[in-house]
Amino acid sequence: MVMGDSYDEGCDYLFKAVLIGDSGVGKSNLLSRFSRDEFRLDSKPTIGVEFAYKNIRVGDKLIKAQIWDTAGQERFRAITSSYYRGALGALLVYDVTRRATFDNVAKWLHEIREFGSSDMVVVLVGNKSDLSNSREVGEEEAKNLAEKEGLCFMETSALENRNVEESFLEMITKIHEITTQKSL
Ligand code: GDP
Repeated sequence: MVMGDSYDEGCDYLFKAVLIGDSGVGKSNLLSRFSRDEFRLDSKPTIGVEFAYKNIRVGDKLIKAQIWDTAGQERFRAITSSYYRGALGALLVYDVTRRATFDNVAKWLHEIREFGSSDMVVVLVGNKSDLSNSREVGEEEAKNLAEKEGLCFMETSALENRNVEESFLEMITKIHEITTQKSL
């Protein structure tokens, strides 16, 4: 099903957004924290949930966001066009304690630009901000990259439930703004 401007019973908009980033950065936990307020210390189940729905009220509109998780695909191959198809937003997640996951942000951006829509809203998310002793990526550095690439930016902790809702809401609100402007 392709989302975008499509209509769904009981809500004003239904749209698709995706989670991307290296394996192990915390994508599944961010999604489960946001959609069900759960956190898992162990690794994810073999058969992962591939997407979750969340209803959000923005102003007088009820928005249903369908958020896709890679369910481990990124371990084996690049994520392909079907994953991005119809997506209006992305949370591009790295782990603040693993520099390699931040270095790979460029690779993920390249993929978004290749497969995603040109006006896709991208929020750069530095997860695991609770692990301050093992931090390898500074907040300023990531902020500068986000500015340079025209992305929103936020540090989160799925473990401590810090900024999780805020980062999804930032993306959803921006998508709502763009969708509303387009339909004017
Ligand atoms: P994914 O592969 O990107 O979906 O990552 P997961 O959500 O499966 O998380 C990978 C590992 O990181 C798991 O062991 C989680 O418990 C852990 N993790 C996820 N988010 C956080 C966080 O905010 N803080 C800490 N300390 N650990 C986290």
